[in-house]
Amino acid sequence: MRFCDVAIAGGGPAGAAAAILLARAGLRVRLATAPQPGGAGRIEGASPRVAGLLARLGLAAEGLAPAVPRQVAWGGAPAAQNREHPIDRARFDAGLLAQAADEGVEVIRAAVARLDPAARLLSLADGREIAAGRLVEARGRRAPGGTGRRRGPATVALLAPDPDPPAGGTRLEARAAGWIWRAALPDGRGVTQVVTDPAGPGRAGLAEAWARVAGTALPAGARATAAEMRLTAPRLDPACPRVGDAAIAIDPLSGHGLFWALSSALMLPPVLAALEAGQADLARRFWADRAAATFWRQARIGRDFHRLSGFATPFWAARAAWPDAAPAHPPVTTPAIRRRILVAAGRLVEAEALVAPNAPEGAAFLLGRPLVPLLRALGARPATPEALAPLLPGRTAAELQAAARWLAEAGLPDPRLLPDLTRPLEAVP
Ligand SMILES: Cc1cc2nc3c(=O)[nH]c(=O)nc-3n(C[C@H](O)[C@H](O)[C@H](O)COP(=O)(O)OP(=O)(O)OC[C@H]3O[C@@H](n4cnc5c(N)ncnc54)[C@H](O)[C@@H]3O)c2cc1C
Repeated sequence: MRFCDVAIAGGGPAGAAAAILLARAGLRVRLATAPQPGGAGRIEGASPRVAGLLARLGLAAEGLAPAVPRQVAWGGAPAAQNREHPIDRARFDAGLLAQAADEGVEVIRAAVARLDPAARLLSLADGREIAAGRLVEARGRRAPGGTGRRRGPATVALLAPDPDPPAGGTRLEARAAGWIWRAALPDGRGVTQVVTDPAGPGRAGLAEAWARVAGTALPAGARATAAEMRLTAPRLDPACPRVGDAAIAIDPLSGHGLFWALSSALMLPPVLAALEAGQADLARRFWADRAAATFWRQARIGRDFHRLSGFATPFWAARAAWPDAAPAHPPVTTPAIRRRILVAAGRLVEAEALVAPNAPEGAAFLLGRPLVPLLRALGARPATPEALAPLLPGRTAAELQAAARWLAEAGLPDPRLLPDLTRPLEAVP
């Protein structure tokens, strides 16, 4: 087969979105994918953040239903919480692959047998080979080596068609031995998802696990899949970066898996550009900051949510204690300037960012303008809309007020920040 710049294994949301974004960056991309067993009836919940990211990136949102309320029966958690978009995964994945083909990606419908980063070869199960400048692993949890270096308590999800799905929203319910999520698509098809500890072998094991949580017989057409959190790629492999679940697989409870699939795809073009430019260290640090941080944050948010279930049975006790006792969001009380690696105009750049109570990860821009130079110009003056107006030209009064409010929430002005503002970038930690 002809040479290409990037060959991607796996065409789920992560692989397809990565292919589209790389093709847009001008690279010749091939993507090989084979359908997932049991994928046809798969319904998941996409957060409004996923819908927002798809719109921002101009990515197809086929099969994404309008957002509905998520009703929650979960011990100490509020009864009605958030909204989510029921999503028909088969249609969603197919829509992204069709868009990839439209945007110049060569989509090959075939199973991948092997990736050989040293030889830069992707081998298909039918014996064909794709030579590429770089390989990308996007085969989800089924990717070789995708069992993870760190894993949460072993968890199984049992999915079954639901002939009588809840109307008017999705339902999430904690039970003594696990939890249940039920959802329906606008066409009336529904799903019940039971999440619990792994069962014994075979159909009898699945039936026992289902009954343990749902208290009913295992419905016809139910299937099981592993669902625990897995951290596979805390570090970037420059020869074969991993995206989506192949890098980090997140607990389905979080509803964050699809967001990570898309956002890790979004990281790929600047990461590959940095590698091509000989900036491997920058690419590695950027990846480590985002990937490992996402895993630990999601693991700890999940732990805190499990603690709210109101149950102390072994299923809940194990998950309420994993991964550790550290806070999900380490509190930031004092604003400070820190060095962060950011994406600017499609490239990785090292820049200063403000770390503050309302921006614990660091904020580098305010209304599209670099934030730290703006803080320097403000100095010790309060960030009133009037003071911000000449620094943020062309902004409306409402935007200036919002910016002033955000800076006040960040704790500014704070005299402790002034020494940080006079330091050169190299001296910033
Ligand atoms: C039970 C369960 C429920 C979930 N619910 C939610 C939810 O409600 N909300 C949410 O945001 N996330 C949810 N997730 C997480 C979400 O499904 C994943 O994070 C997301 O699908 C990851 O996308 P991906 O592209 O990395 O992997 P995948 O979606 O797994 O895609 C991998 C692709 O690679 C293909 N492939 C695999 N092996 C090969 C091979 N050898 N050759 C060729 N192709 C191959 C597969 O067929 C598939 O198309 C859930 C996960 C589970 C397990």
